[in-house]
Amino acid sequence: MAKPQTIIIGAGVAGLIAAYELEQAGYSPILLEAGDRVGGRLRTDVVEGFRLDHGFQVLLSGYPEVKRYLDLGALGAKAFRPGGHIHTRQQHFRFADPLREPAQIIRSALSPVGTLADKLKLGRLGLNLRRKSVEDCFKEKYTETKTIDYLWSLGFSEQIVERFFRPFFGGIFLETELATPAAMFRFIFKMFGEGDALLPAEGIEAVAKQLAGKLAATDIRLNTQVERVEDNRVVLAGGLSFEAPGGIIIACPPDKILPQLAGDSLAWKTTSNLYFYSSRRLKENRLINLVSDPTSLINTFTVLDEVAPTYKLDGQGGSLISVTLRNPLEREGQIGQAEQDLLRHSRLPNDSLRFLKHYEVKRALPILNPVSFRYDATHSRIVNRTFLAGDHQLNGSLDAAMRSGRLAAEGLLRT
Ligand SMILES: Cc1cc2nc3c(=O)[nH]c(=O)nc-3n(C[C@H](O)[C@H](O)[C@H](O)COP(=O)(O)OP(=O)(O)OC[C@H]3O[C@@H](n4cnc5c(N)ncnc54)[C@H](O)[C@@H]3O)c2cc1C
Repeated sequence: MAKPQTIIIGAGVAGLIAAYELEQAGYSPILLEAGDRVGGRLRTDVVEGFRLDHGFQVLLSGYPEVKRYLDLGALGAKAFRPGGHIHTRQQHFRFADPLREPAQIIRSALSPVGTLADKLKLGRLGLNLRRKSVEDCFKEKYTETKTIDYLWSLGFSEQIVERFFRPFFGGIFLETELATPAAMFRFIFKMFGEGDALLPAEGIEAVAKQLAGKLAATDIRLNTQVERVEDNRVVLAGGLSFEAPGGIIIACPPDKILPQLAGDSLAWKTTSNLYFYSSRRLKENRLINLVSDPTSLINTFTVLDEVAPTYKLDGQGGSLISVTLRNPLEREGQIGQAEQDLLRHSRLPNDSLRFLKHYEVKRALPILNPVSFRYDATHSRIVNRTFLAGDHQLNGSLDAAMRSGRLAAEGLLRT
């Protein structure tokens, strides 16, 4: 017997996973997407022969949901080296992770990233989190503490906070105050310790393409904006409506779609990401560069083609550099200033850089307090028999987006 019609709204990672899970249970969902392609926040453009992701994003191979759903081999995913290059106003030095690269233990001990006590604490924290489960990382007390307060409570010095934690986790949380709940810090720190930070060969959007490629029975309708959901009915912006007796999953922010959540709108972080082409090859050993210099606009920069050479399509020489700013760009004139900062940190010669593109990602990550990590479909949030998915339901990560899609589908299948 044919299964009743189900509808999913939003073809980001959460919606794609929800569709996959419903298909596995024999459903043929309709997936409605406002944009012109699947992937949501996972977008890659090709500009002047370079692959440019909308914002610097990495895929962590340690994420439980990545292990469940993605074929990293087929993505041709390439790994960054653990650790980083740190740039202060006066110094440039490498910071290695001796737990991941034992051969680097001497370099790590001598590095001016922090005191010897800091390094011992860092090692202890890494080992301690490896022994903990992911659920442990999200224990209630950690969802109520800011990351920065958690770091102070562990006794880290200002030196290591400013040189390592602030730029590194500021780049991940897209906020350098480190006000993000410590639970998220613990989770991400654990993931970096247990796996690799990866770039798919064809850019971050390839993750969404792989997930969409697994869908055989889903009717994906692009350029289709949903206006509202009423009971089991989905109403489109043009007035057309669809009945969904099998259930609805809203895999995008629901406040504009569900009238009862109208006042419940989310706050989001904005980020600015600049791309430069350097005619000189910049060698950074596949490490992320962390900038610990309050006079610089830059928070992190990365030579993408060193990690994934396919980010340069036509094999040209030189380097493709992705720069994440500490704060969103306020005026175009700041691009020149960011270029000067990049020249200073990278020590490239003056005329070697060419600006390629600026991406301002306005709704990059949801501001959530508390964050959560659920692992049981009975916790899926339901409003009016409609299931909610999206990273904003749990925490701002690809793992959470995938997990929320799975849980919403599992919740729907139980009803
Ligand atoms: C710059 C940046 C850096 C990041 N870095 C990392 C990282 O390094 N590691 C990591 O794990 N995560 C990172 N993330 C987070 C990760 O990208 C997101 O958590 C994930 O992509 C969210 O997926 P989603 O499906 O929940 O939402 P989205 O991708 O936002 O998908 C929602 C979809 O719903 C559609 N939609 C919205 N409204 C409607 C409507 N009314 N009708 C129909 N369709 C609608 C949208 O067009 C969109 O396609 C980063 C994000 C950004 C932007």
